[in-house]
Amino acid sequence: MATRPRATIRLSAIVDNWRALSAAASGAEAGAVVKANAYGHGLAETGRALAAAGCRTFFTAYVFEAVALREAIGPGPAIMVFHGFCERSAQDVRDAQITPILNTLEQVRCWRAESMREVGGAVLHFDTGMNRLGLRPGDLGAVKNMLDGRPVGYVMSHLACADEPKFELNARQRALFLELAMEWPEAKRSLGNTAAIALGSDYAFDLVRPGIGLFGGGHGLRNLAPALTLEAPILTVFEAAAGSTTGYGATRRFGRPRRLATVALGYADGFPRHASNRGFAYVDGVRCPVVGRVSMDLCTLDVSSVDGMIAEGKMVEFIGASADLELQAEAVGTLGYELLTGLSDRIERVWAA
Ligand SMILES: *Cc1c(COP(=O)(O)O)cnc(C)c1O
Repeated sequence: MATRPRATIRLSAIVDNWRALSAAASGAEAGAVVKANAYGHGLAETGRALAAAGCRTFFTAYVFEAVALREAIGPGPAIMVFHGFCERSAQDVRDAQITPILNTLEQVRCWRAESMREVGGAVLHFDTGMNRLGLRPGDLGAVKNMLDGRPVGYVMSHLACADEPKFELNARQRALFLELAMEWPEAKRSLGNTAAIALGSDYAFDLVRPGIGLFGGGHGLRNLAPALTLEAPILTVFEAAAGSTTGYGATRRFGRPRRLATVALGYADGFPRHASNRGFAYVDGVRCPVVGRVSMDLCTLDVSSVDGMIAEGKMVEFIGASADLELQAEAVGTLGYELLTGLSDRIERVWAA
């Protein structure tokens, strides 16, 4: 009998999604963003599956993630690091053939000082309007001076509102990106994440950087398959009397007798406390609401509408083919990104081909 929550990850779905995103990317190369343990799907497993399928460019947030990925996939594909690097990580960058993305003048200085040319041309990330991370457009002259003719492999930027096609910031960022990229006509260009692929060919350029779409999340693109199924076992099923309550704080009172099932899944597993009285799960194909508060290790479902016996130990689905990731996220007041990356190590992960 299963006694702990389990995430089953279908690597073939990730590969199929990557192919679908490649096909939708208007001729651009599709890389793969596998930061944060491949959005909870396992860095090494996901990286190996995508590399075997032909993915040639990976992205992580940190150098340490890139080093682990290199160990998993071996030499060949490029691994670019969003947060860039500094002197302290220069040796790792060199040893593992990692491509740091340069976000500040200090990182450009470091790249020059460390003679990083051996790992390809500089990858310059300009902030074109998100006002988060990246070289400032006003740094252009200083960057050119510092590089002093050294090769630039890529010019990159990132959209703030790619998931809002009507927002005019998209077009403004694109125009500024083009202007900056013009300074290095030999460099390849990369602007889009998953949502930007849905914006069409104007936003694809040479290399797109899908993350959430690989895992079947996000909005705007059809035909992406869920890659992760989150299930947890029912520990007990019982009848709650009319007028009784459930859980900490007694936040849910029942007007009628209800049949409840308490499940081994809580916020220590990454099922947010905010799912209290909002989240849901599928039991025998029936959508059942979370009732009362989610606690550290447990949550309770109202399973009154499920016909027949419910065996203790039965696995119920919180994310998957029935319990849509983005619908669950919306119910819980967050995004698929946060649900997936929040799944903790206490959840057993199983990889299926
Ligand atoms: C995380 C990230 C991506 C991937 O975004 P998705 O929305 O998951 O496709 C792309 N580019 C940058 C700079 C990122 O930080």
